[in-house]
Amino acid sequence: MILLDGKSLAQEMQESIATEVQQLSTHGIIPSLAVILVGNDPASQTYVNMKARACKQVGITSILHEMPKNITQQDLITMIENLNQNDKLDGILVQLPLPKHIDTYEILESVCPQKDVDGFHTQNSGKLFSGVKGFVPATPLGIMTLLKHYNIELQGKNVCIIGASNIVGKPLGALMLNKNATISICHIHTQNIQFYTKNADIICVAVGKPNLITKDMVKEGAIIIDIGITRLESGKIVGDVDFAHVAPICSYITPVPGGVGPMTIVSLLRNTLESTKNRLNR
Ligand code: NAD
Repeated sequence: MILLDGKSLAQEMQESIATEVQQLSTHGIIPSLAVILVGNDPASQTYVNMKARACKQVGITSILHEMPKNITQQDLITMIENLNQNDKLDGILVQLPLPKHIDTYEILESVCPQKDVDGFHTQNSGKLFSGVKGFVPATPLGIMTLLKHYNIELQGKNVCIIGASNIVGKPLGALMLNKNATISICHIHTQNIQFYTKNADIICVAVGKPNLITKDMVKEGAIIIDIGITRLESGKIVGDVDFAHVAPICSYITPVPGGVGPMTIVSLLRNTLESTKNRLNR
């Protein structure tokens, strides 16, 4: 069994991004990212802080806009429209989830697609499903980068993705389909998930339920990508896979933490830098 070491790869990528950012800065160009956080959800605050720290490490300017939980839909849209107009800004990220009274779809659609470094605008997701270049959501992009780094071929493989969210499962399915894999996407209403996982060469799980994937669900030699993140009462961070029992029977597996998480953050940095380069070429 080989560990898919996202932490080391993300570190390497971060260093090369920092070099590129440094080169741009000698020409007076500083990549910059606006992060919008609505309310004070502790998990969202943690994610926002992690993103800000990573930006700082590579020299990307990140500007946090903290908005009250009761902000109106219209005020949030007006704010995003102002950021859209700011020529010096390369990326706009709206931290999810948003409060219940806010229409998330409408908010994500108000981000200008050229600055949509999260890849959640339908113009970008549409491009992804059409196999055309656009911004790809950071988690699926990070997973694809990790697989490529370890020379894991997707063509002809059976892939089972568990979790069908717009930010992980669905875009990951599209990316892997574009690489000629055969995809099953399972979710809370799927009957007999084991039927799909047992037949899979690659299992990707993004649910947020510790030990959802057990040894009896996995084919010998399968590749496991564990995307789930749960903080146990003990403070320990775990994924969705019963790592202790599953790891010995698979060929590759991502650890949690240290697998997909760091690749997600570095992919956001890469998208932001990409957006800066696009701006220079416009
Ligand atoms: P979500 O709540 O939007 O979607 C969860 C999906 O899991 C849904 O499709 C749902 O139908 C499915 N599901 C729920 N219970 C299930 C069950 N018992 N069996 C099968 N499917 C089930 O969640 P999300 O935003 O996609 O995040 C999922 C997990 O991935 C969370 O733990 C989150 O913290 C983690 N995550 C990690 C990263 C990272 O960088 N590592 C990034 C994003 C999300």
